[in-house]
Amino acid sequence: MNDLDKLWELQTVLTALNEREKLMAVKPEAFAAVDDEYQAANEEMTRLQSQIDTLAKERRRVEGELSDQQELLKKYQGQLMQVKNQQQYAAAWKEIDATRKHVKELEESDLKNMTEADALQTQLDARSGSHTDLQARYDEAHAEWQHSLSDLKAEAEKLRQRAADIEATLPPRLKNEFQRIYKQRQQVAVAKVFNETCSSCRTRVRPALSQQLKRGDMVQCEGCHRILYGEKSIAS
Ligand SMILES: [Zn+2]
Repeated sequence: MNDLDKLWELQTVLTALNEREKLMAVKPEAFAAVDDEYQAANEEMTRLQSQIDTLAKERRRVEGELSDQQELLKKYQGQLMQVKNQQQYAAAWKEIDATRKHVKELEESDLKNMTEADALQTQLDARSGSHTDLQARYDEAHAEWQHSLSDLKAEAEKLRQRAADIEATLPPRLKNEFQRIYKQRQQVAVAKVFNETCSSCRTRVRPALSQQLKRGDMVQCEGCHRILYGEKSIAS
């Protein structure tokens, strides 16, 4: 087998491997239905948990402020005992009033956050309760799907091994060139020539290149730069 034959075989093997990998990535309907439900449930639980966390953080902030305001209120009430005239008395009362109002607002806000957090927690608990069942159904469907892929997996593994074997026999320069074009050109590095035309991009192969190809030289398509491979009867 010459190097060009090897490149062509490598391309054929990789194309077959890609087809199998595509097939393996397709979720069967039975799994896709459970998977959708499972992903949606997980997203919902994550969303609820994040809302609960946000509220807990907000409650800590409000409760911290509340405790500061209560301290302040005690201080003002203490000051009330030491006022010396009506004016100071009125001023102290004004502070106390404002602080009490603030305390009341904070208490209401804290209560509201607590009620909201409790409701969210109830929702989350209900979700968690049914999650065990969903998890079991998901695991079962996933295992079934993976099991159905065992033939494809075995075929893919053989193809992968075959590709590695071919690559090992290629001169490094040629292997690198193949891989470069393979990556750049939608995983097709080698294109067959039919009727003096590149089968990948339909560019005509000029007679001079065609001659080189017949001699067994490595020739790249002038349209898509893929490595051209002549039909066996022409190449040999
Ligand atoms: Zn081409």
